[in-house]
Amino acid sequence: MADVFTQQLSEQIQQAVSEKRTLQVVGNNSKVPLSEGVETVELSKNSGIVSYEPSELVVTVKSGTKLTDLSAALAERKQMLAFEPPDYGDSTIGGTYACALTGPSRPFRGVLRDFVLGTKMMDGRGQSLTFGGQMIKNVAGYDVSRMMAGSKGSMAVITELSLKVMPLVEEVTYCRAMPEAEAIVLMNQMAGTTLPLSGCAYYEGRFYYRVFGEHPKQDATPCSNDVWLTLNPFQPKLQPNQKLWRVDTEGPAPSIPNTLAVGMCGQRRWVLSDEAPAPYSTLWQSYFAPRHNDTDPISNIKTGLKQVFDPHNVFKNL
Ligand SMILES: Cc1cc2nc3c(=O)[nH]c(=O)nc-3n(C[C@H](O)[C@H](O)[C@H](O)COP(=O)(O)OP(=O)(O)OC[C@H]3O[C@@H](n4cnc5c(N)ncnc54)[C@H](O)[C@@H]3O)c2cc1C
Repeated sequence: MADVFTQQLSEQIQQAVSEKRTLQVVGNNSKVPLSEGVETVELSKNSGIVSYEPSELVVTVKSGTKLTDLSAALAERKQMLAFEPPDYGDSTIGGTYACALTGPSRPFRGVLRDFVLGTKMMDGRGQSLTFGGQMIKNVAGYDVSRMMAGSKGSMAVITELSLKVMPLVEEVTYCRAMPEAEAIVLMNQMAGTTLPLSGCAYYEGRFYYRVFGEHPKQDATPCSNDVWLTLNPFQPKLQPNQKLWRVDTEGPAPSIPNTLAVGMCGQRRWVLSDEAPAPYSTLWQSYFAPRHNDTDPISNIKTGLKQVFDPHNVFKNL
């Protein structure tokens, strides 16, 4: 039998469909302009850990659970989220999943969607759907749970998700002063070695890299691990007229003018620019900008999925 939250959610969606209203799905509402003047579906009260099996490395959690609460529960059992989600301040796990946000360990451990085992969601007809499972060895089939990563509230309301977690590891950060172009070459070279890396970045004139577990003695200075919190989430102080772009590029690609930080072995650049500085650029601001990197086949897939999950167009589009 459906719980009260699920029942009310279903009624809200069906009511909105019958009255042709649009709904904005909201976690902790980091993007306030999105929900202004629109009816919201609030997920923050849908919070808590549903089940946690440390010996199985699996946690099932309600989507409105704060990242801080989830990470604290995992840390008590010496475990962590391997994808290191950025916490913008009370960010929810559902919002993070809906935005497909992964931290500096991305090239080494994988992206958020690699750790999603299963999802419960409610579609645009008000129907509860379950995909995937709660085990690392899972059933085969069309992998809807991974597809929802990045859906940004436009296809369905994610109510619950099961995640693969990993043991907490000891990490040490090293740093060296050097020019950006040299650091980009070096981080790409290091990625091809057996050094157990879990982060590589360039910030304010220094090349940073993070190593976990046993590793050879390094010809660099140990630095604080806090730099990864500065870079994840990256929130530099900006002048009102400045625009910050997240640029995804080939790791060895040359420097881009006005870059504030380089992460993920060179694959991620944070750049100040009036216009998109490269093809795969996302404007990072208080509302979602249109994506610049969707090719026609990708747009067609997204449109098709939207029609399947939200045939009445009740969820606000990006
Ligand atoms: C200044 C700033 C700029 C940012 N820019 C970007 C950006 O350009 N691109 C980006 O991806 N992230 C961006 N982020 C991160 C993102 O907005 C959120 O901070 C993060 O996803 C988690 O916040 P939240 O839980 O409050 O989710 P919210 O901010 O409430 O929601 C974020 C998105 O996820 C959807 N969502 C939330 N919960 C659910 C759910 N349970 N089911 C389905 N959909 C859900 C919402 O509809 C919305 O589209 C930015 C953050 C800040 C502070």
